[in-house]
Amino acid sequence: MSRICGKDTKPEEIVCKYLFSKGFRYRKNDKRLPGKPDIVLPKYKTVVFVNGCFWHKHEDCKYFVWPKSNPEFWKDKIERTVERDKEKIAELIASGWHVFVIWECQLKPVVRETTLQGLCKEIKCLYTVKDLHAEYQSSMGVIEWQGWLMKELPDDLQCSLSLDEKVEKERE
Ligand SMILES: [Zn+2]
Repeated sequence: MSRICGKDTKPEEIVCKYLFSKGFRYRKNDKRLPGKPDIVLPKYKTVVFVNGCFWHKHEDCKYFVWPKSNPEFWKDKIERTVERDKEKIAELIASGWHVFVIWECQLKPVVRETTLQGLCKEIKCLYTVKDLHAEYQSSMGVIEWQGWLMKELPDDLQCSLSLDEKVEKERE
């Protein structure tokens, strides 16, 4: 698969560099966690997978196309990867991790800044509301980027809310 940012910059490195520049500290490819997540942010109990659109079958993405030659082989291989991804993510969520999936296409130069800004904002947002809503963690599903909106977050926890206001309300 072609790399998106010159020869040496892997997609996960783009994300790492950005997070680092914003003051986040992380571990890479932590083998102790299910699925060996690309990026682990222990302080935020958050992991980030940076998935190639082809290998991980990004649905409805123009970068995912079934290969014409050897279709049986590819179908088997890719479907197995997708199954494994699902299992690992479920395991992570079950043990209380927040799971973000960023797709390679969301790191294309024209959308990269939006994706990464959104990611940082959402990680911090999760952290801020975490203590207020204990049940929220366990009910949370996978967070996939849809632009910069999170489709899995309950409405009342959308980051567009003023968090300070929310905190105030909880204290009353
Ligand atoms: Zn994609």
